Amino acid sequence: MEHTIPSSEAHLDGPLFRNARQVLEEAGQIINCDPNVLERLKYPRKSVTVSIPVRMDNYNVKVFTGYRVQYNSTLGPYKGGIRYHQNVDLPEVVGLAALMTFKNSVLGLPLGGAKGGVAVDPSKLSRTEKQNLTRRFTSEISDFIGPTKDIPAPDVGTDPQTMAWMMDTYSQEKGGYFQPGVVTGKPVEIGGSMGRNHATGLGVVYVAEKAFEKNRLSMNGAKIVVQGFGNVGSFAALFAHQRGAKIIAVSDVSGGIFNGDGLNIPELIEYTKQNKTVKGFPKSTDIGNEQLLELACDALFPCALENQIDTHNAERIKAKIIIEGANGPITNTATKILSQRGIFIAPDVVANGGGVIVSYFEWVQDIMSFFWDEDEINGRLKSIITKAFETVYKFHTEKNVDMRLAAMACSVQRLEKAMLLRGLYPR
Ligand code: GLU
Repeated sequence: MEHTIPSSEAHLDGPLFRNARQVLEEAGQIINCDPNVLERLKYPRKSVTVSIPVRMDNYNVKVFTGYRVQYNSTLGPYKGGIRYHQNVDLPEVVGLAALMTFKNSVLGLPLGGAKGGVAVDPSKLSRTEKQNLTRRFTSEISDFIGPTKDIPAPDVGTDPQTMAWMMDTYSQEKGGYFQPGVVTGKPVEIGGSMGRNHATGLGVVYVAEKAFEKNRLSMNGAKIVVQGFGNVGSFAALFAHQRGAKIIAVSDVSGGIFNGDGLNIPELIEYTKQNKTVKGFPKSTDIGNEQLLELACDALFPCALENQIDTHNAERIKAKIIIEGANGPITNTATKILSQRGIFIAPDVVANGGGVIVSYFEWVQDIMSFFWDEDEINGRLKSIITKAFETVYKFHTEKNVDMRLAAMACSVQRLEKAMLLRGLYPR
């Protein structure tokens, strides 16, 4: 169904959000969702746009635009990452905030959904400029975030150091008291959690193991292609490699590399630390991003950005299974094409949920000031993510709908119950 969006709702008119709304609408019909609940779920609650003046190294001031979108807080405080990327705009952040809401709900976390971002290419900033940008952005949104209100985290283009600056800025502005619970994904020395840095990649592999099992395939010896070699893709590749999979191709922003016998992932990770790119890695040949997605393989892990598989290439994808490490890498129409072709998709809201699951643990540990060891973190992560996968898989088989619709349906069921219990304020 096509949605027409009036110009007053231009912030809702992005491809990612249009896709999310469409799945929401379809899932709502399947579960017979209360129409008033469904109507409310189609809109972000609050969208904040800020200008961020930054002193650059040449002493000139440059102004960047930043956003924080708080989508829904029915189930708990707002939660979601901060993205630094040149293509960030408000409609994209709205779409990502909606996905966080449905992700946190389907995972069973006591958290709402939000997302933030700044339109900037972080690779063009010096460390000082990135710190200046982060601190001023945090200051601009400091009245909207907080340990009981809205808890940011890393996303594309941000990392534990960025979270350290956010936490410090917020703490200084609120009287100078240490407030680690305001952001997650921090370094462990200042209230971060063991296992958070690799959590999204590990979650991708826990979900992949389940998906392989359901499709009667084995990860040991499987050929896997990974798009994106940042925090998600590199750890997903590493954990799959440790389980005996052959990672035959990976890519980053500058292009891809291929080795049909499998790339040595631990060595590749070392290589990228030195060279800042996967390109030129010994015992590999170059491959384009388009070609990489279309390789014959057992599983494809798209771990980069949204809208990578759409109508232009869906017919050419040859993977048997796709595990969505990124948010929104496959459009709705492509999802339908792939599903009809018998390709199994583990949808983003479950597949990349490892990050926010361990963020939830980090937030809990910060509030308690009592920290857990890594085995405990990984074990609890596995139990939450596999439980969510099983619930969604059951819905998918029982109702004969694709996994994306099933995930949305399970997510909306939980939100609907909570929203009806809370009611509409004031009435
Ligand atoms: N940015 C990550 C995501 O898209 C993590 C969010 C979080 O930990 O709050 O799920």
